[in-house]
Amino acid sequence: MADSNTIERGFCRLCGRALLPPEGFGALKDGSGVCAACLRKLRPRYPLALSWDKKGNEVRQDPIRELDAAAAAESLRNAAAFIEELRARYDHHNAVFAVESVTVEKGGFMKPSVYTALGKVVYGCFEPEDKIRLLHSGGSAETALTCVRKTLMNGAGTTIDRGLGGQPCALEFTGKGLACEPGDLIVRD
Ligand SMILES: [Zn+2]
Repeated sequence: MADSNTIERGFCRLCGRALLPPEGFGALKDGSGVCAACLRKLRPRYPLALSWDKKGNEVRQDPIRELDAAAAAESLRNAAAFIEELRARYDHHNAVFAVESVTVEKGGFMKPSVYTALGKVVYGCFEPEDKIRLLHSGGSAETALTCVRKTLMNGAGTTIDRGLGGQPCALEFTGKGLACEPGDLIVRD
């Protein structure tokens, strides 16, 4: 049975596109819907923060939900300029990831170690097989992503297609003796 709530959330408040549940959509302060495409453009400026309650349930703090329609529309108009400013601040890398914690699964003879860096994509997009550089103490090491994973309470979860700007996620890569610590950046050029 269709209810009025479904109909009211049928279209994006910012661009008029249909809100499609498989793509996911968000909401503004007044409850009106925002489509996945507009969310992607707004997200780097309004990063999603995840935490977990005592029972281990994910609690999403979404600053986009605090915006009224006028502020969201204004931010959407400035979204491209905002990314350009970010890129200028980060030496024009195509994508930047801020590392918050790292776990290393030691490899063995002929087997590289598996590194999982948890953190947040500052801007841009990271996908499996992307060539990345680990920026650490003024130096840099090259490797490639094996996969991108969801952030869970105790580490990384199932694989996801990509990590997008403003989104918490985990980047997984392999190598020997790579240096990667909280506070480092992982970039794609
Ligand atoms: Zn939209």
